[in-house]
Amino acid sequence: MSKVRIYSLAKDLGVDNHKMLEILDGLGVSYKSVSSTIEEDTVELIKQILEEEAQGGAASTAEPTPDAPAEATTPRTAQAEASEAAKQGSAAPAPSATATAEREPEAAPAAPEVPHRAPVVTIMGHVDHGKTSLLDYIRKTKVAAKEAGGITQHVGAFEAQTSKGRIVFIDTPGHEAFTTIRARGANVADIAIIVIAADDSLMPQTREAIAHAQAAKVPMIVAINKVDLPQADPERVKTDLTQLNLVPEEYGGDLVVVPVSAKTGEGVEDLLEYISLTAELEDLRADPKAPFSGVIIESRVDRQAGVLATVMVQQGTLHVGDFLVVGEGYGKIKAMTDSNGGRIKEAGPSTPVQILGFSEAPASGETVLSAKNEHAAREVIAGRASDRRDAENARERRRLTLEEMMGE
Ligand code: GDP
Ligand code: MG
Repeated sequence: MSKVRIYSLAKDLGVDNHKMLEILDGLGVSYKSVSSTIEEDTVELIKQILEEEAQGGAASTAEPTPDAPAEATTPRTAQAEASEAAKQGSAAPAPSATATAEREPEAAPAAPEVPHRAPVVTIMGHVDHGKTSLLDYIRKTKVAAKEAGGITQHVGAFEAQTSKGRIVFIDTPGHEAFTTIRARGANVADIAIIVIAADDSLMPQTREAIAHAQAAKVPMIVAINKVDLPQADPERVKTDLTQLNLVPEEYGGDLVVVPVSAKTGEGVEDLLEYISLTAELEDLRADPKAPFSGVIIESRVDRQAGVLATVMVQQGTLHVGDFLVVGEGYGKIKAMTDSNGGRIKEAGPSTPVQILGFSEAPASGETVLSAKNEHAAREVIAGRASDRRDAENARERRRLTLEEMMGE
């Protein structure tokens, strides 16, 4: 019992990871992530601090050093953190909120609370490294089968229930989904899982996937898959990653690497736990009461049903009957299906839903907004169309001017 990982200490002591990092910041202890290890001495200090806080002794800890742990919430990032801590509700221990309240009365009673939302995860990697198998395994074990009339509805995303809460997976593995969506300026994924087969290590598409995640500034978790194979060599994968400057935690870096097998299920639970941990650190929040906005994941035309569009709700809540605007088109939600194929009437943040009601198939990555009524929807579209024409005309004028100049 020499060193302990931050998150497991947090778990043992019954505080959340944010709180733990706050204390470490206050102590001036450096760390790379919640899975970094800390020394025994530090553990003792943390326990003392928590005990004192529990006894309401925030003032006493403030005495010895100016940046004592109890004050960590106040100096570090001012109100943002203070309100964040206050917003954490049950997760935030009362003492720190009290400490803040004493010093900075205006920061403590945080405005309406913005709730946490589930993380949205995308899976990328080289062909045949097991992306689909891994998703299938998670889907089979973590998604309650509730398919409408036994028909597997392809929604393009699914929600997994884990012991750590809900996780949403984008079910269209591959870079295409990621890049086409990103090309339109939208970022749907909060976390990228890079799947690397243990018998094949880094391949061209693995490097591409890593580059995409880095460009999008999305936190990455590496899943070394197929560890059940006799020829599996997870150490080689880690060494190869190090050569890309991605240093696994056990080599002293901050890259989370989880060995898994989509065949036997080994490590999948750990992977889900790491996803939850990463999400917790990202502090993902969205207001279900805010105006709706979402992103098209994919859409297709069903010969019988018509246009089916998968939308990821990013903010606000969708209801059957709402008017939606996408690009220069609009639609009214006639029906909504969740990722299990069940009919639903409303959907909040981080919920993927399939929507029936658009007249034309919207493109992946398009932003979706809601409008009060049909009239408002038409107005928004008319405005967009005229903006587009103006831009086109301006371009044409520039082209003509340029031609004139060249002709002279
Ligand atoms: P994708 O192209 O990345 O989606 O890869 P697939 O999921 O289609 O998997 C490619 C092949 O590897 C299939 O034949 C899978 O059965 C196999 N495979 C995937 N995961 C594992 C695993 O963990 N262990 C073993 N032994 N085979 C796997
Ligand atoms: Mg596949």
